[in-house]
Amino acid sequence: MVFATDGIITRVSEYGVSDKIINIITPEYGRIGVIVKGGRSPGGKNTPISQLFTYGNFEIYKKNSAYWLRGGSIINPFYDLSIEISGLALATYLCDLANELTDEEDSDDNREILRLLLNSLYLIGRRKKDKTLIKSVFEMRAAAISGYCPELSYCAYCREPNPDLMYLDVMGGKLICTDCMAKRGRKADISKEFEDMPEASVICPVSLSAVAAMRYIISSSQDKVFSFNLKDENDIHDLSRTCETYILSHVGRGFDSLDFYKAVK
Ligand SMILES: [Zn+2]
Repeated sequence: MVFATDGIITRVSEYGVSDKIINIITPEYGRIGVIVKGGRSPGGKNTPISQLFTYGNFEIYKKNSAYWLRGGSIINPFYDLSIEISGLALATYLCDLANELTDEEDSDDNREILRLLLNSLYLIGRRKKDKTLIKSVFEMRAAAISGYCPELSYCAYCREPNPDLMYLDVMGGKLICTDCMAKRGRKADISKEFEDMPEASVICPVSLSAVAAMRYIISSSQDKVFSFNLKDENDIHDLSRTCETYILSHVGRGFDSLDFYKAVK
């Protein structure tokens, strides 16, 4: 079977002596692993079109349940991601998250993750929008698309919508206001220590502005999801820490690419 599809390359791994396997997230087939024969040799026919971050149209054939790259053309190579090491690092982390959250299915969820990823990479490359905000939008929106959408309308216990400070119960996906938190008699945990704690106690304190930003991220239309701004550094920090904790807790793992991004940021 031979078919052509648009898609973006989100991972490249070595295979055999001179071949490689590329992950392509596509609109129709979800995420597929495709073998590129001779893809690691500089003169290989398909070497130029099989680089990480390449958005292209790929001609693929399927033989014995394996996909092989036959050819293709580049639509956008996203070269501008390489201008800054931090941009490259963030793009790599978002691709890793996208790999984690997609599968080999013809599904709306896969298509939405693909679109979110393309928009994120475009914005990183343009270098006009704060990378911390791009990262937070991707993390929270991708979580919502993948079935982990939190209920952020009000405190889950007293239904107060806008108290000054709230806590996000990460695994429960719900807000808790300061009063209800005090009544429950539990101290707010420091989120960066979440890895060592049992799931039920992953609690992030979060300002009302950061809650408003998260409400926007999960409810806006896809084409407007990046169209907001936060000015206050503390709010940006709250949003960033909460979105990151949220997605990592639900995915249940960390990422080397995220550690690298933080190291070079
Ligand atoms: Zn409450």
